[in-house]
Amino acid sequence: TPVIGVLALQGDVREHLTALAVADALARPVRRPVELAEVDGLVIPGGESTTMSKLAVIFGMLEPLRERVASGMPVYGTCAGMILLADKILNPSPSSRLRSSGGDPVPGQETVGGIDMIVRRNAFGRQNESFEAAVEMDGVPGGPVEGVFIRAPWVESVGARAEVLAVHGGHIVAVRQGNALATSFHPELTGDHRVHALFTDMVRAVG
Ligand code: GLN
Repeated sequence: TPVIGVLALQGDVREHLTALAVADALARPVRRPVELAEVDGLVIPGGESTTMSKLAVIFGMLEPLRERVASGMPVYGTCAGMILLADKILNPSPSSRLRSSGGDPVPGQETVGGIDMIVRRNAFGRQNESFEAAVEMDGVPGGPVEGVFIRAPWVESVGARAEVLAVHGGHIVAVRQGNALATSFHPELTGDHRVHALFTDMVRAVG
């Protein structure tokens, strides 16, 4: 049984722990480098990516995260977690109503990286423009997943090594590159844990 950590600095940690347990993984929170060293794979949850990356620096986790992801540890990021897995991040476009949050690129926000993609934060709009939609996702059999989008990012572009797994409204919302998986939406909030099962299979394949 694979041991899968959930980065527990900030965000919806508990929901991921539950979803992973349903998907037959041994799930545990990860806050410190010694805990990271003991897991076979890691989920980076939804939450607030600027806060999460600042806490990762404070807890001495940023470099250990970069190293393990770069060396092939399976990792799955949802929403803010997707932002942390992007090699490059942008703020909402200046034409959007979120102009006040600044221009491109996001100043001073560190990422773990690992997926050759450019991710735009809060791209689908504000909190009150959050929505749900059925999303067909490659690698997830049995029909569309319920996509919960909460101040969600989208993927503006991907490099040659990244594979697009899902598109919604003309925008990329799920990507995989090697052992790294990212979704704009939050399967952990739905009770349908097929995406967590896909990730658990990815971890098993490495282990
Ligand atoms: N908008 C948040 C961010 O930029 C992500 C929102 C979420 O994870 N639900 O970090």
